[in-house]
Amino acid sequence: MDLSVIIPIYNEETNIPALYERLGGVLDPMRLPGGYEFIFVNDGSRDQSLALIENLAARDERVRFITFSRNFGHQIAVTAGLDRAEGQAVVIIDADLQDPPELIPQLYQKLSEGYEVVYAKRRSRQGESAAKKLTAKLFYRILASITHISIPVDTGDFRVISRKVVEALRRMPEQNKFIRGQISWIGYRQTHLEYDRAERAGGETGYTYRKMLKLALDGITAFSDVPLKAATVSGFVVSGIAFLVMLYTLYARFISHDYEPGWASLMVSILFLGGVQLIAVGIIGEYIARLSANVRQRPLYIVSDSNIAPPGEK
Ligand code: UDP
Ligand code: MG
Repeated sequence: MDLSVIIPIYNEETNIPALYERLGGVLDPMRLPGGYEFIFVNDGSRDQSLALIENLAARDERVRFITFSRNFGHQIAVTAGLDRAEGQAVVIIDADLQDPPELIPQLYQKLSEGYEVVYAKRRSRQGESAAKKLTAKLFYRILASITHISIPVDTGDFRVISRKVVEALRRMPEQNKFIRGQISWIGYRQTHLEYDRAERAGGETGYTYRKMLKLALDGITAFSDVPLKAATVSGFVVSGIAFLVMLYTLYARFISHDYEPGWASLMVSILFLGGVQLIAVGIIGEYIARLSANVRQRPLYIVSDSNIAPPGEK
């Protein structure tokens, strides 16, 4: 098998037929000697997506699918696809046609130049709210500034990766997935192509702000200790200031005898200290929550049906 195309699906009934057509139209002319496969991962869709995929699978043996018992999230859907992909190269692409299938031959071409990862970088993005663009832009830049590894900015999961990278990803069993970070961490020679991100072809985004926030926190906590260190540093700074204020208070009380019933200053310092402490505890909590998720060792996802043998059972 030369190429596996992984497509996470969450309520994409309006896009699946067009996606299948466009992917076929791009991949067939590539004349891959070993052939290719589609891996549709149905992430607990509540519409007709699964029926459409099963239909395609019945007609076309290259269509393989995995369907989850519920919605586990985009990153986990991609991971499930990676677990079962057989191709020597793997493409990860969104189902809503925001990532143009027409770019795949160019991405794939670059692999033969000796790269193991070719990701697609967004030159522009259309049809997305100003708030989404702004939060995404900010997130990518904050992340880049606080991680040791260089995670490319303005880049989603649309990319082609080689077998080597897939094998490395399979050995990273972390629960809170941030796949583009993991791929940067893996290393090897990586490069990128630029593209203009289109509008969603049909349907609605499955990425609520809640899911985006989770992705952002997963990315940051998995690849950076800077927030923890910032909590420590701000702890020191605030206690330093508090100590100086304490000295002044003692001086005013016992030496200069110049003191007021200091309600205002008392309130300010209590609120300030309380706030800083809560922030620090919250940051620590984010890390501990992820630590405990990994200690539990639950499976990442539950498959309810598939036409692909689970890894290790072939
Ligand atoms: N998706 C998924 N599970 C989810 C949310 C999204 O598998 O819980 C899929 C979705 O079907 C699409 C891809 O992930 O193929 C990207 O999602 P979407 O287009 O909704 O995100 P956006 O482009 O708005 O960031
Ligand atoms: Mg989209």
